Amino acid sequence: MFASKLPNLGTTIFTTMSALAAEYGALNLSQGFPNFEADSELLKLLGEYAERGYNQYAPMTGLAALREQLSIKTEKLYGAFYDVDHEITITSGATEAIFAAISATVSKGDEVIVFEPAYDSYLPAIELNGGVPVYITLHYPNFEVDWDYVASKITNKTKLIIVNTPHNPTGSVFSKSDLDKLAEIIQDKNIYLIGDEVYEHIIFDGLVHHSLCTHPFLKERSFICGSFGKTFHVTGWKIGYCLAPKVLSVEFRKIHQYLTFSTFTPAQYALAEYLKNEEHYLSIPTFYQTKRDIFLKSIANSRLKFVPSQGSFFQNVCYKHITDQKDVDFAVYLTKELGVASIPISVFYHKNVDEKVLRFCFAKDEATLQKAGEILSSL
Ligand code: PMP
Ligand code: GLN
Repeated sequence: MFASKLPNLGTTIFTTMSALAAEYGALNLSQGFPNFEADSELLKLLGEYAERGYNQYAPMTGLAALREQLSIKTEKLYGAFYDVDHEITITSGATEAIFAAISATVSKGDEVIVFEPAYDSYLPAIELNGGVPVYITLHYPNFEVDWDYVASKITNKTKLIIVNTPHNPTGSVFSKSDLDKLAEIIQDKNIYLIGDEVYEHIIFDGLVHHSLCTHPFLKERSFICGSFGKTFHVTGWKIGYCLAPKVLSVEFRKIHQYLTFSTFTPAQYALAEYLKNEEHYLSIPTFYQTKRDIFLKSIANSRLKFVPSQGSFFQNVCYKHITDQKDVDFAVYLTKELGVASIPISVFYHKNVDEKVLRFCFAKDEATLQKAGEILSSL
């Protein structure tokens, strides 16, 4: 009998719902990926670098030119300096960065504060490292954090707090005051932070992304994880990064070195070139706000309730006025019977809190969004 290290873990909901959408020919607004092409300039760069022979292992820490562009961008946008050689590491997607950061930080018995609903890659990494998750449950519609309550959950075993802003699956974002309160409750404590900031450029209505690195005290104890896949519509490239002070990066790199060693070389060259034009990322909020608004307009006269997403490319909708079916069942019903796939929010809570909320990904072309809206309006 082979003893599982993760006995309670099944297949991720993203795989399950995308497979169901494919089987039933449904519009797939479940798994978070764009159904449109990336900028042809970026694709051309990838092809050029591959043809020019940049196809062998990249340096373990990532291509220097790409780390340099990240350093420039982070200082320009957030006023935070990261040393190119010692504090920036290119990874195989943010998934690897998060896994490596958790592995570098968490030992057996350490407590990790996780806000729920939580992106699904955090828990397995915590468990594999013998960590103990301490859940803070956030609720629809605003998913606000009560920092006094968080403070009450901190013990002398707390080692790590994972924050995600803009947030998947809820579309909420942290304010400056959230960062200040976070700093206050971990003052004088040996607690580290992971900032899952993969949606840093997907933020709406003039809101500003408050990266953990904008706060000097938080920056010193944070691993900030980002994803080029999310920002530039190339989720399949699986290129991300981790920004962390040197002492943390040293330990992070020990793990990264033996998880993947390095990642896809030609794409690192392409991205290093592409990042030189700041318009390529400064234009992203407007680009996605337009999509969010098309989707919201298309369901404006439906019976669904919603608060407009503040960031990420996800919109939550509440259907409790329509049926009391469980969200998992309703998501399956919508996929099979009506042809629109979504993600039920309860799967992101360890106790499957079901507030009758579904997550729709609006990183889709206009026709898909309109069609999905028409179907949802018929409910
Ligand atoms: N964190 C969050 C919140 C995400 O939504 C995702 C999904 N892309 C990731 C991390 C992983 O990013 P990547 O695809 O770059 O591994
Ligand atoms: N981050 C994407 C989402 O939330 C999916 C990533 C994945 O499929 N693992 O839908």
